Formats: sequence, C-alpha cells, structure tokens
Amino acid sequence: MSITGSWQRAADGAGLLSPDGTIRATIFAEMSALAEATGAINLGQGFPDEDGPDEVLAAAREAIKNGMNQYPPGRGTAELRTAIAEHQKRFYGIELDADREVLVTAGATEALAATILGLVDDGDEVVTLEPFYDAYGALISLSRGEHRTVTLRLPDFLPDHDDLRAAVTDRTRLIVINTPHNPTGAVLPLDTLELIVELAHEHDALIVTDEVYEHLVFDQRHIPIASLPGAWERTLTISSGGKTFSATGWKIGWITGPAKLITAVLSVKQFLTYVNGAPFQPAIATGLALPDTFFDTIAGVLKQKRDVLSAGLSKAGLEVFPSEAGYFVVADAAPLGYDDAVTLCRELPDLAGVVAVPISAFCHDELAGEYSSLVRFAFCKRFEVLELAAAQLARLGR
Ligand code: PMP
Ligand code: GLN
Repeated sequence: MSITGSWQRAADGAGLLSPDGTIRATIFAEMSALAEATGAINLGQGFPDEDGPDEVLAAAREAIKNGMNQYPPGRGTAELRTAIAEHQKRFYGIELDADREVLVTAGATEALAATILGLVDDGDEVVTLEPFYDAYGALISLSRGEHRTVTLRLPDFLPDHDDLRAAVTDRTRLIVINTPHNPTGAVLPLDTLELIVELAHEHDALIVTDEVYEHLVFDQRHIPIASLPGAWERTLTISSGGKTFSATGWKIGWITGPAKLITAVLSVKQFLTYVNGAPFQPAIATGLALPDTFFDTIAGVLKQKRDVLSAGLSKAGLEVFPSEAGYFVVADAAPLGYDDAVTLCRELPDLAGVVAVPISAFCHDELAGEYSSLVRFAFCKRFEVLELAAAQLARLGR
C-alpha cells in the first residue's frame, strides 16, 4: 500500500515504512491475520475472548432499543462524563468538573491522537518509555515532533532515573508515560512518578499518561500520576473502557485534566471523529459504577491467567519476565536457541500452534536489536485456551 506525505511519516514513526515507500499493516493486524489463516491460538493482539459484565452488555442493548442511535454531544454524554468524574473520585480521590475537565473519545487511541496532534509543534520533543505502544511513534511523527525514548531495563522493565533526567530537557513538550505498561506489564513505582512530575516542572513540560490497564494491576494499587502533588495542572490522563469491561471493539475512551488542556484536545478531536459510540456511552457509564467486587475480581482472575501462561512459558524453556499488570507477559526465546523473535513469531503457528508478537515491534532500531529475542504473549484469554497454548508451547523445548 502506498501513501504519501504526513502519513508516510507516521508509518515511519511506527516502524511500518518499507524502503520502497509502502507501509505495512501493524504487527497486531499482521499477527491476528496469521492466527486467522493458520488456526493458531491468538496470544498476539490483546483482546479478551470472553464478554464483559452482563449489566454493561445489557445497558448497550437497552440504549439501542431506547433510541440512543444519533450523535451524542461533542464532549460525550453527560451521564458518561459524570460517571468518569465519579470513578476518578472513588478510586483515586481526584475531583473533576464533568463539564470542563472530562472528554469522551473514540478509544484511548483518539485521546492520544488529539493530544499529541494538538499539543506538539514542529521539532518539539516528546519523551516516551521504550518499548512503546506503536501509536505513540506514529502520532509523534505525524505531529512533526522529535521522539526521545527512555529504555525500560531488564529484568523488571523499569526506567533508570538518570536516563529519565537525561531525556527530559527544555525542548520537551510532552512526557508520555504508560502505566501499567504495554507490552511489558511493568508498573511505574511512586518514586519514578514523582521524578517525572519534578522533571515536568523543571522543564515546563506536560505529562500525558496512558492508564488503559488501570484496573488490571495484580499486587498493588494503581497510582495515577495526576493524583501526586504538583501534577494535576500539567497532566492529561487517558483511559478506556476496552480493557476494564472486555469490550475493546466498542472504542469508548476518555481523557481528563485541566479545562484549558481538555479544550485544546477537544479542538482536534472534533475533526477526527467528532463523536462516537452513542449507545456504548451509557453502557460504559454503567460499568464504571459497578461495585468494588467487580474491579477486584477482574484483576484477581487475570493474575491467575498470567500465572498459567507464565508457568507454561517457563516449562517450555523460555525465560519469563515478571508481569505486574495488564494483558501481557514478556519472555525471552534465546534459551531455546531463537535469537530473532520476528522470525520465531512468523514460525510459531507451525511450531506450536500459537501466535505472539515480537517486542521489537515496540522499539526503535537500536533497542529492537538488543531486545531481538523477546516475545510478548497475551494472557487475556480463557483458562482452557491458555492451558492448551502452554501445552503446545512445550513442543518448542523438545
Ligand atoms: N494504549 C495502550 C497502552 C494500549 O495497549 C491500547 C490498546 N489496547 C491503547 C492505548 C488503545 O486503546 P483503545 O482501544 O481504547 O483505543
Ligand atoms: N492494544 C492492543 C495490543 O497491544 C492492540 C490494539 C491494536 O490492534 N491497535 O495488542
């Protein structure tokens, strides 16, 4: 597929531009297509294979039945904005004005897009962690920003504080963090979050925090950076109903922060999708108001799934890194003699009837080389699927 201009730049930023100017599909699309074509178990793209809570599904059906089928308001329905504000207060003690400080978006992806396109000017530096979610690289390139990264170091995939200090400068416009982190399952500790707030002040940068896995943290509590002293006025917090309510196809996301910044994001968002998902908005509002037991249970179940898959990967002979949260676990295939995870992932359907994603897809060239044997596996699947995948992966070691 050939494209031109700014989108070519975007593809380049996401590592998807071929030397002849054509772009490739994202690694998630490629690997899901491979799973489809081969019948292999899809532990590549992160989406659950079971529906979320009945109340949430019923609320969407009810909304369609009741005629919520036209454009919702530009900022999102009042009901959902209020539910988001109440959620932030209930879980994190963050008080929001639902009319000015909350914006509903087409998934977290649109919130990221409108934020980066709205706030980054030619040559502004944007700092992210690396590995990074592919959309970050694409959007930074599209906005003509300069992408600077801070490497997440093995074995816990946390950033070194000196690396963070070196990456953030007076040229930094945005510090984009993602905690809990895709693809590594890392959770940024409090002292790292505090340092990021300090650096944002020192260099007059804004913080953008992608917290789509906020409710999928296993043994600790999620700390939104916006809740730290001095953070609020320079932080935009992004989340989404996709992961929490197992509804990744609904694409209801949101962004919260100071009214002035939200208005800047809205000014771009109104020309991207304008609005989306009218009947899903009340459904996600229903989900956000579910009792604590729901939120505790989803994290607990996912933790057990992590354990099943991690044990299977270890047994198969891979070196498994700890995953503290989210949908994914990273494993090193080098102990099995596979140094190139891209090749391994293409062969994995044949070798083990499983699809996974190479970590290099989340890295610029240099780190892609260093992390070339690392593979991301998704564990947001039914127990029997994970057990079958684990049994099939055991073939790798034979
Ligand atoms: N950020 C991260 C870290 C993600 O993993 C994803 C995808 N699941 C997104 C953003 C996109 O979220 P959404 O589907 O709500 O657009
Ligand atoms: N967030 C999902 C993942 O990391 C993929 C979403 C997508 O396909 N863009 O697997």
